Amino acid sequence: MRFVESGAGQSYKVISPQPLEILMRPLVDAHLDLAWNATAHDRDLSLSLEEMNAAESGMTDVSYRGRATVTFPEMRAAGVFLCLGTLLARSGPAHLRKPNYARTDLDYTTRIGSYAAANAQLACYRFWEQQGEIRLIQTKHDFDEHLTECADESCHKVGVIISMEGADPILNPAQLEEWHQQGLRAIGPAHYGHSHYAGGTAVDGPLTQDGRELLKAMERLKMGLDVTHLCDRSMEEAFELFGGTIWASHHNSRTLVPNDRQLSDEQMQKLIHRDGVIGTACDAWMLRTGWTIGKTTPEGLTLEAIVDHIDHVCQMAGNADHAALGSDLDGGFGTEQTPEDLKSIADLQRIGELLDQRGYDSNDIEQIFSLNWLRLFRKVLPDNL
Ligand SMILES: [Zn+2]
Repeated sequence: MRFVESGAGQSYKVISPQPLEILMRPLVDAHLDLAWNATAHDRDLSLSLEEMNAAESGMTDVSYRGRATVTFPEMRAAGVFLCLGTLLARSGPAHLRKPNYARTDLDYTTRIGSYAAANAQLACYRFWEQQGEIRLIQTKHDFDEHLTECADESCHKVGVIISMEGADPILNPAQLEEWHQQGLRAIGPAHYGHSHYAGGTAVDGPLTQDGRELLKAMERLKMGLDVTHLCDRSMEEAFELFGGTIWASHHNSRTLVPNDRQLSDEQMQKLIHRDGVIGTACDAWMLRTGWTIGKTTPEGLTLEAIVDHIDHVCQMAGNADHAALGSDLDGGFGTEQTPEDLKSIADLQRIGELLDQRGYDSNDIEQIFSLNWLRLFRKVLPDNL
């Protein structure tokens, strides 16, 4: 694909559409809450998608029972050979028990609660590695070996790099080294509300003193900073303070769908300037303006909306070097809140075809599907343990 300046400033248009090409492309997904699904939702990800959804028949504890899109067999069918797998538990000031407090399955009043929950999730990844479902990628050696084996098709395990969504399970910045030794390679300091380290979605405010220390410690350990969910002030400060590898794992455009959960064009430009990558998420309310969770239905929303957000990043950058996918599938929602033609993570493959129809060439699509994430992920892995 070529990007040509369409006039003023940084605006680009796509020209020369290429002929349709349908093939299975290796895919990297930068955001999947795999372990949280096992611990909080009691899901067996080794089942087929059909089996797992059938097993939830009649369950009503959450709206997305029986509507899952991700299991390990399904990831293999999707061509997902590598992902960031999260640790997700909160115990920040936003999540302390208060009057009318409705506990969610990721909130803890005590920090030890979130610490223990994240460790339980870590145990899931270790178990899955022992079961041969995944390969934990902790070093550059693991990474290179996995890619070599995937390239000659001798590996059918999903590579998983551990990331943390909301840093509350890290009891203090000094404990970061311990987490790093356990395999943690990237962190998003906040989730929804204030964490102990930063302001997250739906609030605003600066990094805390511990947040600043955490970022410095992450930089020393060459860990990745995931700015997704940081509120504007905390993100601004993080851009200034953190000199290491930076990305937005699952984050869409505020210009296309206005909401503080989304990235402004200015924030996208900062990420692009830092050689960052932005993963487009598949949660419907981030794809379509005016979506009301629990009310709006996916009719009329298709994978094209995901491509719109990917394309927005590419048009901002003037190339395809900074856009990618961070699907967030099964991240607290199911097919009631995905595009109507996205019933399984395997449907993400069709995005290649749609990009092709918009004029992206096979190199661009390869960048978006895998190479952009590979470029960044390798940087945050130590040579050896
Ligand atoms: Zn998230």
